[in-house]
Amino acid sequence: MRILITGGAGYIGTHTAINLLENGNDLEIIDSFINSYPAAIKRLNYLKNILKIDSKFNIHNGDLRNQKFLEKIFSDSKKSNNPIEAVIHLAGLKSVGDSIRFPEKYWDFNVNGSINLFKVMEKYECRNIVFSSSATIYKYQGKEVLLDENSVIEPTNPYGQTKAEIEKILQDINKENVNKWRISILRYFNPIGAHSSGLIGEDPFGEPNNLFPAIIKVSSNQTRELKIFGYDWPTIDGTAVRDYIHVMDLAKAHYLALLKLMEFESKLLILNIGTGIGTSVLDLVNTFKSINKCDIPYSFTERRKGDFPYVVADNKMAEKILNWKPRNTIEDMCIDGWNWIKKNPSGYPK
Ligand code: NAD
Ligand code: UDP
Repeated sequence: MRILITGGAGYIGTHTAINLLENGNDLEIIDSFINSYPAAIKRLNYLKNILKIDSKFNIHNGDLRNQKFLEKIFSDSKKSNNPIEAVIHLAGLKSVGDSIRFPEKYWDFNVNGSINLFKVMEKYECRNIVFSSSATIYKYQGKEVLLDENSVIEPTNPYGQTKAEIEKILQDINKENVNKWRISILRYFNPIGAHSSGLIGEDPFGEPNNLFPAIIKVSSNQTRELKIFGYDWPTIDGTAVRDYIHVMDLAKAHYLALLKLMEFESKLLILNIGTGIGTSVLDLVNTFKSINKCDIPYSFTERRKGDFPYVVADNKMAEKILNWKPRNTIEDMCIDGWNWIKKNPSGYPK
């Protein structure tokens, strides 16, 4: 299949791309590099060659909000008699804190960018899409309650609101169903880790907002200590619990979702992509330390605004429908994250 990936130079994009290539798909990758590095694409190519993968990819440097840019990619693929059949839509801005500071930017990039993409897809009759949504759209359900796909949606920040909005647009497109779209919305929980080669991984711009990149920075002595946000949450050890999933397990779910969609004439498939296992901040820190035999100094600080104590997926639907099981343990995630930072102490070459 010829597949377009938006945001393909990013963290999840590079890992999803290698999985799609390994499965024999040719790719068109779009990225504006607003939150990624061209070196990530060079590494993807290098990894593809090392793994002796024959499938090919092209990279298109541009912005999703630029309709002409998008149209050219679709029209060139059509002219080549090998049109783009499906889109994996990952491009977007993802920092909760920035979205609170710059909401209009988030609505513009995430929602306007997506609408633009959907319009061009419709024009070129490419109506198969997998969209990256997030667990952040769910309302907190209380202590130790797993979130299933029917849990209440009530995002508490502009980032989450843009994801919920894009979901609504896709649901409207599906409802109308004049032109038979196949749509899969994947609600990711907390992807961490890296490809086991250590050639691609997560390299956030500036100070990391998320826990795992923050742990990695401390483990490699780039930051003195980890600040743990809150010690008195109503959890097993007082630190917040999340559902961490290996990025390669998450990557696999995209292709499986796409294959599943193709079995139907038209479909809307909404799935949680998590492991169903809760891990506290302290659990993750201690596992990282012991498996990698390194030190992670930390101190406790006040709770982060807007945080919840417990966000864990009920992932039964994804397991059943996709015939998918996350294979990697928290230990594997820590080993691969450590391998990535050991091989690339400053991330990708800048
Ligand atoms: P990322 O920032 O590493 O990747 C996103 C990519 O999109 C970047 O390479 C960026 O340069 C590109 N991009 C952004 N806006 C663009 C635009 N208008 N045009 C073209 N390219 C653009 O983020 P990621 O962690 O790989 O996340 C991918 C998707 O998954 C995002 O939509 C994110 O919201 C979603 N998601 C991520 C997580 C997570 O924890 N990483 C969790 C839930 C959902
Ligand atoms: N966290 C922390 N220190 C950090 C970053 C995050 O203690 O430097 C905590 C955060 O409060 C949350 C958990 O780690 O309870 C996971 O945070 P992350 O931002 O990675 O994921 P999210 O909260 O978006 O699920």
